Amino acid sequence: VRHLSRRFDVSAPWLNRKLEGTDKIYVNAVKDVSFSVKKGETFALVGESGSGKSTIARLIVGLLEPTEGEIVFDGTSLARGLRGAQARRLRRRFQMIFQDPLASLNPRWRVTDIIAEPLRVFEQGMNDRARRMRVGELLTLVGLSPEDGLKFPHQFSGGQRQRIAIARALAARPEFIVCDEPTSALDVSVQAQILNLMKDLQDEFGLTYVFISHNLQVVRHMANEIGVLYLGRLAEVGEAEALFAHPQHPYTRMLLDAVPDIEMTGRRRKKVEGEIPSPINPPPGCPFHPRCPFANDRCRTEVPGLTQRGAQAAACHAVEEGRI
Ligand code: SF4
Ligand code: MG
Repeated sequence: VRHLSRRFDVSAPWLNRKLEGTDKIYVNAVKDVSFSVKKGETFALVGESGSGKSTIARLIVGLLEPTEGEIVFDGTSLARGLRGAQARRLRRRFQMIFQDPLASLNPRWRVTDIIAEPLRVFEQGMNDRARRMRVGELLTLVGLSPEDGLKFPHQFSGGQRQRIAIARALAARPEFIVCDEPTSALDVSVQAQILNLMKDLQDEFGLTYVFISHNLQVVRHMANEIGVLYLGRLAEVGEAEALFAHPQHPYTRMLLDAVPDIEMTGRRRKKVEGEIPSPINPPPGCPFHPRCPFANDRCRTEVPGLTQRGAQAAACHAVEEGRI
């Protein structure tokens, strides 16, 4: 992901008048974000709502087009307007799993038809019998049974529906899956089962994940590398272990301090303070300065760039200056 930016026009369309250039209101949902994901690994994008993480997910799988920047997959730039056979060849290597499986599964279709849909698109030479066999295999792979294919999505629990969505995502044998909060709508006990399933599938098929979450706990056990997003920009990015052991950016530190103390060390944990500002009117300078205990005048005027230090990079003047 290279210098990716995405701007949305949010000028009130209900005003029902044509707005000219400067009257328009734009939101920079994603601003100059760069990172790379290694084959067979998991890159986690973490941030509060409004941080731009879902926008990045949609940009990667081509549901949205970037305003600036590009996405390069295995040496090929997924440039705007990639169409036809070339686009289809690349598309089948990518899949996406969404937060709400019920909303992403057609309620009027039997599970078999839902899972078979990508096969109809990408395996056009496959006959009905082979397709049914493949759907049965996929259902077994995600911990359901081939008979479940006869039912409809509403006949399953939330966790089972996410298993169906995963089976559908795997149907075309993708290499790369973007997972947008795949467990956030599920009960905690079910979350762990789905995460374990996803890890097992990753090991078995060498899958590469971009895993999006607002929850650092979830990411801790999945991710090789983590990018922490704040108001559309990367605040910190680096190896998961290093980032958990020595968070550099004040925002990452704040997020980690808010993580419930599961090791029961008795250490008191602080809550995340303040609200994420509106992306329509982002603060000047460092976007985090209104919430940052280390902010100074430079922070209020100058946007910090990422500075690499060891296994991670942080966008923070105080880190760069050695103040914290
Ligand atoms: Fe805080 Fe300044 Fe660093 Fe931003 S640049 S995180 S305001 S210290
Ligand atoms: Mg989201």
